[in-house]
Amino acid sequence: MEIKYCWRCKMEVPMLNKEEFTVAYELYGKGFKNLKKDRQERFKELLDYYNDLTGFGETELNAIMHHSLEQIGPDCEKCGKPYRTPKAKLCAACGNKRILTE
Ligand SMILES: [Zn+2]
Ligand SMILES: [Zn+2]
Repeated sequence: MEIKYCWRCKMEVPMLNKEEFTVAYELYGKGFKNLKKDRQERFKELLDYYNDLTGFGETELNAIMHHSLEQIGPDCEKCGKPYRTPKAKLCAACGNKRILTE
């Protein structure tokens, strides 16, 4: 888990690494199979997992499901905010042109 700026939430949030996100994704899938009517109840395991891990107090499932370090790029060399996607060529925050090495 790492605190990163999220472009969708427009704030710094805890983003999950690959292993953590895999667990979250499984709990998310499990929530869909849960027959309880209340959405918050159905996905309680996922919310608990994320909040225990991060100490954040997230209530929005959709937020958790995009807080994955794999879905964003590395930090911009200039301003330190992460690139929006792993393959982004331009920093959305400061306009820095990224030099992709691959
Ligand atoms: Zn977000
Ligand atoms: Zn930048």
